Amino acid sequence: MGNMSQPQFENFTASSLYCKKCKAAMPVRERLLLVLPDRELYDYLCTHCASSVGQREVTAGDKLMARAAAPRRARRTMAPRGVMP
Ligand SMILES: [Zn+2]
Repeated sequence: MGNMSQPQFENFTASSLYCKKCKAAMPVRERLLLVLPDRELYDYLCTHCASSVGQREVTAGDKLMARAAAPRRARRTMAPRGVMP
């Protein structure tokens, strides 16, 4: 009998995706499409024309990773020294 507290995901940042109909990157609305035992499917709808512009699959593992892992840093690409004799 575990009283698991359910995390809330209200902090999802609304992102913009390219909408084919609007021919522009539009703010999207995230809609929970399907809930499976080990994953959730999200649908992204254009807030302007309400057409689906993308989908996302979030697994339970992804959620844990997103919480635990720090944001990825862009790797610095170091130019190799091509010094040839
Ligand atoms: Zn649109």
